[in-house]
Amino acid sequence: MERRITGYTTLIGLIATPIKHTKSPTMHNEAFSYLGLDYAYLAFEVGNDELEDAVKGLKALKARGSNVSMPNKTVIHKYLDKISPAAELAGAVNTVVNDDGVLTGHITDGVGFMTSLKDSGIDVIGKKMTIAGAGGAATAIQVQAALDGVAEISIFNIKDKFWARAEETVKKLTEKTNCKVKLFDLADTDALRSEIESSYLFVNATGVGMKPLEGQMVIPDETYLRPDLFVADTVYMPHVTKLLETADKVGCKWINGDGMMLYQGAEAFKLFTGKEMPIEHMKEFLNIK
Ligand code: NAD
Repeated sequence: MERRITGYTTLIGLIATPIKHTKSPTMHNEAFSYLGLDYAYLAFEVGNDELEDAVKGLKALKARGSNVSMPNKTVIHKYLDKISPAAELAGAVNTVVNDDGVLTGHITDGVGFMTSLKDSGIDVIGKKMTIAGAGGAATAIQVQAALDGVAEISIFNIKDKFWARAEETVKKLTEKTNCKVKLFDLADTDALRSEIESSYLFVNATGVGMKPLEGQMVIPDETYLRPDLFVADTVYMPHVTKLLETADKVGCKWINGDGMMLYQGAEAFKLFTGKEMPIEHMKEFLNIK
């Protein structure tokens, strides 16, 4: 690694806090190395207070760009020159590309999720999905699903601080896409049962299933699932959540959040480098099945 970094190497960053646990530098640097591309990817622990300076720094240092995670995803657009249509609809940016001093914000989480479905032979285009969640991951998925041509999306969330964001998503997607989008309280278990019953795919895009909510799931029990329902969890740690264990028991085909993580990175990699990430190599390297 050190031997391949020279005076010609171009920087790509990741700005978020906390961020030291991230796998993104490992993933991107391995892909650069594998393809012989002269970039280096580093994580920087930066929060909202230092964000404007950090963005100016990216420009001044002529970095090729940066990934962005919490708490900066929903704030960084203020400091950028352009925003992609999906990032605009999602109200969040996870990738910034620097084209000769012009910074454009993109969101690749939704593309990552939709590609991970495709990769597993799950074709939800023209069909209905039910999704729990209204935070960053959920909104990005809902936006991309609607843009890609999913016919109907039923969103469930608890009545917390994310509820207003869900209402906003319903409004925006109804105005800007042909997708039929509805919002329900996750506490309405009759609605949850009937919306899942008429869906091709059920997605968990909440923090339920990972620490500190590990061992819990967003559906009350296994009777909400059926063998021909596809189930996707955005959680990747643990690899198999309680929801996925239950889906497996019922006989559903399921995927975890590993594919979303890989493909959101691959989409960002393509935006930074213009090249496809070597997916098969990365799956092996990251131990993704
Ligand atoms: P966020 O904080 O923006 O949103 C959290 C969501 O969880 C909200 O909808 C909130 O209402 C819901 N929630 C929280 N506690 C709940 C509870 N007790 N019951 C029901 N719902 C509850 O977080 P985020 O960044 O959107 O992350 C959400 C999930 O998506 C996490 O599990 C995260 O690991 C996963 N994620 C995966 C990837 C990936 O690449 N695979 C990327 C981003 C996020």
